[in-house]
Amino acid sequence: MQKIPFSLKSPLDDIRCLYADFDAPITGLDCGGQCAAHNPNGKPFCCDICHAVPAVYRQEWEYLEKSTDLWHAWRGDECETSPKNEYDQLSDETPQGMLLLACLGPVKCQRQYRGLSCRQFPFFPYITADFRFIGLACEWEFENTCWVISNLGAVTETYRQQFVASHDRLFSFSQDAFDSYQLYSERLRERCISLRRRIPLLHRNGGYYQLSPRSERMARVSAENLPRFGSYKG
Ligand code: SF4
Ligand code: SF4
Repeated sequence: MQKIPFSLKSPLDDIRCLYADFDAPITGLDCGGQCAAHNPNGKPFCCDICHAVPAVYRQEWEYLEKSTDLWHAWRGDECETSPKNEYDQLSDETPQGMLLLACLGPVKCQRQYRGLSCRQFPFFPYITADFRFIGLACEWEFENTCWVISNLGAVTETYRQQFVASHDRLFSFSQDAFDSYQLYSERLRERCISLRRRIPLLHRNGGYYQLSPRSERMARVSAENLPRFGSYKG
């Protein structure tokens, strides 16, 4: 069982501790090697600035800026093929208290200085309509590109426990973080209602579920029966 750290400090006021307690690899193999083969840029999709722009909490940036040369404030010109209006659009969508960064890329990654968003990816904390954080849901924009989303059975129990424990602590100190994921979960429900699909969920109890986006009723399933997407369907 993963130990749950005890600290009276908000995780955002002790980023080093937050990172140390959420450091387990997602799977037992290098999932970047699985997905990079499908990216024409040759990089893992979540580490390719042309596909994902990491957002960090302001407190993370204060810590990272003085600790490492890995990151800089995102300028919007790091990817040659980005649309012209991307900078304004993503800046507008970034929640208050967060900012967008770019890193030196996967070859020069410094694992201990990955942001919370790197550690979470490809998941976010799923909050029910009645305000319960029940598990991990997938970043739907990356369904067709992220290998992990099509192989949820490969996610280790240690990673899942660290994800849950870190977000329990974060939410106990930050109502804003909880509210923003509540809204994000609502967006996922709306999307799945319109697509007539259920929501795959890694429950905090260790099980795999398919959740109805309308009623939020859950059916327990085996990992092998969860959907696969894009090139990983076969
Ligand atoms: S989390 Fe997904 S996108 Fe990121 S490296 Fe792993 S498989 Fe690729
Ligand atoms: S810091 Fe590392 S894990 Fe995070 S986006 Fe950059 S290369 Fe990927």
